[in-house]
Amino acid sequence: LTGRMMDFPLTLTHFLERARTYFGRSEIVSRQPDKSFHRYTYADFYRRSCKLAHALTRLGVKPGDRVASLCWNHHRHLELYFAVPSMGAVIHTLNLRLHPNDLAYIARHAEDRIIVVDRSLLPLLEKFIAAVPSVEHVIVIPDDGPTPQGRLDYEALLAPEQDSFAWPTLDERSAAMLCYTSGTTGNPKGVLYSHRSCVLHALTLCMNDTLGISEPDAVLPVVPMFHAAAWGLPHGGVFTGAKLVFPGPHLDPQSLLDLMAGERVTLAAGVPTIWLGILALLDQEPQRWDLRSVRTMAIGGSAAPPAMIEGFLHRHGLVVTHAWGMTEMNPVGTLARPRRQHEHLPQAERLAIRSTQGYALPLVEVRHVSDSGQVLPWDGETMGELEVRGPWVASSYYSSEGADRFTSDGWFKTGDVVTLDAEGYVRITDRSKDVIKSGGEWISSVALENALMAHPAVLEAAVFAAKDPKWDERPLAAVVLKPGQAVSKQELTAHLEQRFVKWWLPDDYVFIPQIPRTSTGKFLKTKLREDYGDHLVK
Ligand code: ADP
Repeated sequence: LTGRMMDFPLTLTHFLERARTYFGRSEIVSRQPDKSFHRYTYADFYRRSCKLAHALTRLGVKPGDRVASLCWNHHRHLELYFAVPSMGAVIHTLNLRLHPNDLAYIARHAEDRIIVVDRSLLPLLEKFIAAVPSVEHVIVIPDDGPTPQGRLDYEALLAPEQDSFAWPTLDERSAAMLCYTSGTTGNPKGVLYSHRSCVLHALTLCMNDTLGISEPDAVLPVVPMFHAAAWGLPHGGVFTGAKLVFPGPHLDPQSLLDLMAGERVTLAAGVPTIWLGILALLDQEPQRWDLRSVRTMAIGGSAAPPAMIEGFLHRHGLVVTHAWGMTEMNPVGTLARPRRQHEHLPQAERLAIRSTQGYALPLVEVRHVSDSGQVLPWDGETMGELEVRGPWVASSYYSSEGADRFTSDGWFKTGDVVTLDAEGYVRITDRSKDVIKSGGEWISSVALENALMAHPAVLEAAVFAAKDPKWDERPLAAVVLKPGQAVSKQELTAHLEQRFVKWWLPDDYVFIPQIPRTSTGKFLKTKLREDYGDHLVK
């Protein structure tokens, strides 16, 4: 018997209309390249999104066409985030930290018809645009000065257009957004989010049990809007009418702390490397910023070191919400919150729970399997590859590549090696390509680097596999010290010996000024392996 309820489509258009209807006075704040602030309201945002939709229609954009952005986080990027999907086209967010050759590959692969680019990023665009024949128009956002002569200017395009738009009725399964994985191994692969997946994901982020985004919030997505839909925060913000705060290109710790204090931010989100820098600055000047408005900082994208979570909490009263996700899933999959039964645990144990990757969000299901495909027990010990399924998990990539990541019984293979405990908390021990295989046994690089980052002299540490003639691979640690600190290799070994069996300990340490980063700000272990992979052989 079929239920008799309306088949009302779950679309981002509804978010946009809702923002206009109820939240016209809520504020959207953006930091501009010259560090000044741009402020406007959701009413302005709505009107300009309509104008943008008219302008893009005039330029020939049709349903399903890809409109790319090459932009920092700011209000005009938000206009693209909503106007493009609501008109039935697809917003494709290009990662401005990629090499021009990769950008050319991705834009060609996506067959982008239009690219909207910040003027400050034009030099980057010019390095690859000739290699993307599908692009018919480049639209320049005059962020750091006027648009050069002969270029289409975003503001000039919007100016004459009407500020209302008859948004089409869309199928909730139609594509809204195209995001590429960063392709640390092999070519980047496209993931095509649907309206439905964006809506359900955003809705879940608004639950109290997850991030609890709601109208009184002031949300700061430090995570770039080109990194997996900025983890759904712009969607959640517009859906609830929360104040949105965008950092523009200013991602250094001081600018971010100024923004958090100045705009009374309640929820901020970004990768651990950003927050390590922020914690170091806060430790130096604990009284400088009034951060009492901040209710939590969502940290994910790579493992948040427990010492950092603890440092924020104990030294600054700031709560970290550790989350795990992937581009392939819109992107949040699990989130670490203690539950009712943990209320009376000692603080150290509650902290240990906050340091896991957490348990699955509603509507997401997880399991972990052995190399031979056997589903493993949730005993907190057995390691296996994490698999996920749910309404915001990719069912295939945008092209035919990567088909081997999807199992025949309907799960997506994440490539993350995890344990699952009886309560469902996931602990990532490694990405499968980063796990260190020493004499056939596995060593968790994440566990070692977390322990190293708990040493008071250590700012950052990454542990990776170096070649070893006898054991095949052995752990090697790259360590960045805090300014003015010194520590010997022997001291670091002594520090680790308390926690790990002997054969897990790194064979050596290299002290370097900074750990190389990926395009999304994670530790770039492939580069470390390239540079130091033979370190133990010599
Ligand atoms: P990329 O890292 O290639 O830029 P993604 O951002 O989609 O692309 O990366 C997803 C991967 O990031 C996950 O498969 C996992 O390895 C890692 N990751 C994400 N969040 C966490 C976390 N909280 N702890 C550990 N690893 C994480």
